[in-house]
Amino acid sequence: MVKVHAAETLGRVADRAVQIYGGMGYCKDLPIERLYRDARVFRIYDGTSEIHRGVVARGVLKHGAALADLAG
Ligand SMILES: Cc1cc2nc3c(=O)[nH]c(=O)nc-3n(C[C@H](O)[C@H](O)[C@H](O)COP(=O)(O)OP(=O)(O)OC[C@H]3O[C@@H](n4cnc5c(N)ncnc54)[C@H](O)[C@@H]3O)c2cc1C
Repeated sequence: MVKVHAAETLGRVADRAVQIYGGMGYCKDLPIERLYRDARVFRIYDGTSEIHRGVVARGVLKHGAALADLAG
């Protein structure tokens, strides 16, 4: 859950950073372009977001009540 949340949050933040800087955010003159590219891979390696969502869904189906208690 943490990996999916962190990877997707990072993607949104990096995307907004490019948007804020506009064309300059897309150019290699600034490090934003590199951060945007690097952010993208977190949704792929160490298990893609889709695979992790499947794992989480199976966990919820199997241990739903216990997970709901943990979430408060
Ligand atoms: C920079 C980088 C570093 C890496 N380092 C390592 C490493 O150190 N050790 C290591 O073992 N591997 C490493 N990998 C491999 C990485 O773990 C795999 O790329 C990743 O697991 C995805 O596998 P795949 O590329 O074969 O994509 P695929 O499995 O072909 O997936 C392609 C797409 O289909 C989706 N998909 C696949 N199966 C399902 C499904 N059942 N349900 C829903 N969607 C599905 C995926 O989510 C993805 O969007 C690295 C990859 C990169 C890019």
